[in-house]
Amino acid sequence: MYQEDTIAAIATATGEAGLAVVRMSGPEAEKILSGVFVRRQPKAERLRSHALYQGKIQDPQSKRILDQALVVVMRKPRSYTGEDVVELHCHGGVFLVRQILGLLLSQGARHADPGEFTKRAFLNGRLDLTQAEAVLDLIQARTDKGVELALSQVEGELSRWIGELREQLLDIMVQVEAAIDFPEEEIELLKRDQLIANIASLGDKISVITDTYEWGRLFRDGARVCICGRPNVGKSSLLNALLGQERVIVTPVPGTTRDVIEESLNLQGLPVALWDTAGIRETDDQVEKIGVEFSLRHLAKSDAAIAVLDGSVPLAEEDWICLSAVKSKQTLVVINKSDVQQRINVDQVKQFIGPTRLMAVSAKLGNGVIGLKLALRELILGAAPTAPVVLTNIRHKAALERGKKALAAASASLIALQPPELVAVELGDARDALGEIIGVVQSEDILERIFSNYCIGK
Ligand code: GDP
Repeated sequence: MYQEDTIAAIATATGEAGLAVVRMSGPEAEKILSGVFVRRQPKAERLRSHALYQGKIQDPQSKRILDQALVVVMRKPRSYTGEDVVELHCHGGVFLVRQILGLLLSQGARHADPGEFTKRAFLNGRLDLTQAEAVLDLIQARTDKGVELALSQVEGELSRWIGELREQLLDIMVQVEAAIDFPEEEIELLKRDQLIANIASLGDKISVITDTYEWGRLFRDGARVCICGRPNVGKSSLLNALLGQERVIVTPVPGTTRDVIEESLNLQGLPVALWDTAGIRETDDQVEKIGVEFSLRHLAKSDAAIAVLDGSVPLAEEDWICLSAVKSKQTLVVINKSDVQQRINVDQVKQFIGPTRLMAVSAKLGNGVIGLKLALRELILGAAPTAPVVLTNIRHKAALERGKKALAAASASLIALQPPELVAVELGDARDALGEIIGVVQSEDILERIFSNYCIGK
């Protein structure tokens, strides 16, 4: 358990801003505030909880006024951390805010570790672990869909689902425990079949949810898409057309875009990192070689590829190199420059790449670009899952998979007429795996890993 001291940190981002919030949490928060806060209308009674008060922040030693501020006290347990929380809403100058924080630290507060406010909220039972993790996802969300997914988790949808699953598992466990306590009754054949069916049903429910992870991960972390093609087919132009802005220098000299350029695209809520690669081809030029290797590595890491061909000229050797490189990936083949006379042999391409989607566009005029975006989104995401909750976190997925494995082991033991003690242990493993997700079963290790990803002040 943590030491119940009082922590303080700047909760808002660093930089000049209209306002900034410095917050404290812990038993001394209010006392520290009273030492530095001079109310506008001094009154004897203590500050009301959850009400804003206007006044000045003053250094009690030097009597120097640091700022005018609004402060709010939120007494436990009705606060974010479940402890007494004080927020000082001051002016947002970088230097000023640091000075105010420094004052609070000099009066006895300790500087908070990353994520410590949220960690305390978890340790005090204000949030469970999935909700605490989702707070970070919410802060880091880059699209509306990312916000939506994180918010549903903050609101406890995943926790509720895990809770229900644990209840069902506990029901099964009670029956197995009964067989241990009253060995003369053994697990009868009929009951055994019923137990096996119930365990299988739990396993199926878990599978439905773990299957959503890929979809959720893409929304949370974003998808990576590699744009490949030989020089001059119009990769940079296509990137610009997709982004709707002139971002990359477009030039008619082949091989100009040497390094991998990354741009971000919001595909109806799906964050996409688009990589414009140096081109994949055979070359003796050392510098280009590095670029090509770089491109291949990016291609291997990407979730999907867009292979660009120049429709205005016949296929070249380098086009085949590019098409071969993307053949085993999720790919859209884009025939660019549809605004000019076409000389490419489309049938040949079709024959080579098989059922891969082929699209004609003009990056220059923007023709076909909206269709390309829709096709790309569909290619990456597939159909939306219909499951009750969507997983976005690899830790949750791993724990659910462990839970499912333990259920399968319990099932196998029941089928093999193994003693109920063994079945109970395996079911216990499944229960613990589920408990780990919401934090009922916790280790300092897991907490450390989760909260160290946070920013200070959260
Ligand atoms: P990259 O080397 O593959 O990145 O190709 P760029 O985007 O630099 O384009 C190479 C040349 O093709 C430039 O002169 C572009 O203006 C031209 N280009 C790109 N897209 C189109 C298009 O859709 N139609 C036409 N007519 N020209 C294009």
